[in-house]
Amino acid sequence: MRRDIQRMLDALKEGAYFVDRERRITYWNKAAERLTGFRSHEVIGHRCSEDILVHVDCEGKNLCKAGCPLLATMEDTLSREAEVFFHHRRGHRVPVSVRTTPLEDDEGNVVGGIELFAEISPEENLRERMTELERRSLLDLLTGVPNRRYLDSELAALFALWQKSGVPFGVLFFDIDHFKRFNDNHGHDIGDRVLETTAKTLVSAVRPFDVIGRWGGEEFVGLFPNAERETLASIGERLRSAVEATWIEADGQRLSVTVSIGGTSSEEGDSSPSALVKRADTMMYRSKQEGRNRVTVG
Ligand code: GH3
Ligand code: MG
Ligand code: MG
Repeated sequence: MRRDIQRMLDALKEGAYFVDRERRITYWNKAAERLTGFRSHEVIGHRCSEDILVHVDCEGKNLCKAGCPLLATMEDTLSREAEVFFHHRRGHRVPVSVRTTPLEDDEGNVVGGIELFAEISPEENLRERMTELERRSLLDLLTGVPNRRYLDSELAALFALWQKSGVPFGVLFFDIDHFKRFNDNHGHDIGDRVLETTAKTLVSAVRPFDVIGRWGGEEFVGLFPNAERETLASIGERLRSAVEATWIEADGQRLSVTVSIGGTSSEEGDSSPSALVKRADTMMYRSKQEGRNRVTVG
């Protein structure tokens, strides 16, 4: 590739990479390194399906084998746009918006493809909205996601809005399954890494106006404006499968955890914000009793 073109691509804030017809990576820009955690020399010559990006759609379906937008573009030369998730080197899933373009030679033969990708990150939006001081008092130190204090104030605001204007909202309660056993088997530090990765996966998988934070220990709470039970059940299922599909590498193996989820939404008779959290917690407990790694909304 010409030097000046390469310099230009390296200056982009979007990730960009080139593949040949066999979908082997031939170029990987600086932003791609930053967004994925993989350095250029680690990926050049490899296929993106070799545990590098592993695009999945919002249902968690792996797109590398069927449904790869870049492959489709190389076949019909049409550009495509899609919203997918990929696997970050550190384990969490990153939501990205991707655009694909065919790479053609002078005769118009397709010789490869280009993919540009930009992060769609609720977490980044949230960070930008906070001042440094707020950040220190409202983010959980270990995981970097909103803490209990932030959740409490957000919950109070949603509750007030519901009482005053009738705008409903939903609460999801997450508890990692058998986490004590996980710590016992792999050690507390690896437990901490999984906690951080789980938090990032959860936070990255919701829309910018939804909030997920660490409630305490291995428990998380999500708050969803305008979401009633049916919507909550499908968000819960999406998050459940996102956590299940997330892994970290440690001890030379892939380690992952699952979560049990309970959900509920505002209803007549709810006299305080904590009543909703309590009901979501009760539903979560039902998920535990019914076998864990599941969602119960009631
Ligand atoms: P269950 O499926 O019933 O939820 O089983 P569990 O083992 O997850 O439940 P329990 O509440 O008994 O244990 C929670 C464990 O979470 C205990 C504690 O060791 C672990 N834990 C809580 N906070 C942290 C943390 O900050 N880091 C690590 N590594 N572990 C934590
Ligand atoms: Mg617990
Ligand atoms: Mg637990």
